[in-house]
Amino acid sequence: MNIHPLKFQRHAVPFRAVVPLITKEAADNFGRKIAYLRISVVDACNLRCDYCRPSADDFHASPRARLLSFDEIERIVRIAASLGVEKIRLTGGEPLVRKGIVELVARIAKVPGIRDLAMSTNATLLGLHAQALREAGLQRVNISLDTLDAQKFSRLTGGNLHDVLRGIHAAQDAGLTPIRLNAVLLRGINIIEAAALIDFSIREQLELRFIELMPMREGMDWDKHYFPVAELLAQPEIIERVDMSAWERLGSSAARYLPLRHAQGRVGFIEPMSNRFCEGCDRLRLMSDGKLRPCLPADNEVDLRSAMRSGSSDTEIETLIRNAVASKGEIGQYRFEMEGRQRSMISIGG
Ligand code: SAM
Repeated sequence: MNIHPLKFQRHAVPFRAVVPLITKEAADNFGRKIAYLRISVVDACNLRCDYCRPSADDFHASPRARLLSFDEIERIVRIAASLGVEKIRLTGGEPLVRKGIVELVARIAKVPGIRDLAMSTNATLLGLHAQALREAGLQRVNISLDTLDAQKFSRLTGGNLHDVLRGIHAAQDAGLTPIRLNAVLLRGINIIEAAALIDFSIREQLELRFIELMPMREGMDWDKHYFPVAELLAQPEIIERVDMSAWERLGSSAARYLPLRHAQGRVGFIEPMSNRFCEGCDRLRLMSDGKLRPCLPADNEVDLRSAMRSGSSDTEIETLIRNAVASKGEIGQYRFEMEGRQRSMISIGG
């Protein structure tokens, strides 16, 4: 028998590819599908990084009753997953200071549709929790580390560098990999260490990403400490380490990457100030008080906690999430006015 090649192909296509999917996926007004939900589980932190939070006198972590409960977080994750969210990142404050965090990880890991579960942490408590987190279903961690100088670390964060290094090793042993290291570029503070941070990432087999400092309401003097990625890339010790000719962007990642010259791997650069990547943004941010923030540098938020506590149905919560998605601006931009800066990074979660 003589089968026409096109006819043959049509029958060879798997069944699910020819039947249109009925999907509830949430997309914004610019066609960006929302696939990624960052959840700040607490606004308290055991460090006090100068660029992240107001002074100790001005900052008071929320009382427990104002935090979303685990039931409420799980419910939002379940509804978000039904709208196409597949990736969850737990952040804070410091997520590991939230009591019961391992249980929360286990609950989120079981939500149908969630295929990527990660955490951003300062790693100081990872030595205690890494193994249990892995067993509960956490897949990987991003670790913040801006300096390898123990005294500088302690001045900048109030913490102990040793705890972080121990946490990194615990994450490696537990298999919370690939591990990313996030370093905020701070003029006059850690630029001199940029090459050493790259070398450390190579030795420890971590993926290092440099982040431009964002101007928050309080915290460090942005004018004084902001250091653009372009300036970093002009430094001879960086040019010597990364191949400038091979920029790469991976999916919807906020980072662009350059390969290392003398080792396997790459270095990432996140440029919220000098080279935003809003066109690839697929994320929403849920804060510990239940406000959903569609864009990092914009203050329009939707209050899911009040809705849940006043008895809203799942369909009503879904509508609120869709409203937040619809309010996502095409471009998120720090304007150096108060607008967009009503919250500190410690409560947004990065
Ligand atoms: N405590 C966790 C941690 O250390 O990763 C999670 C929360 S922290 C707010 C998340 C990330 O935001 C960290 O990598 C931190 O360095 C970054 N961050 C905080 N303030 C920032 C700012 N003003 N500009 C750029 N990044 C900032």
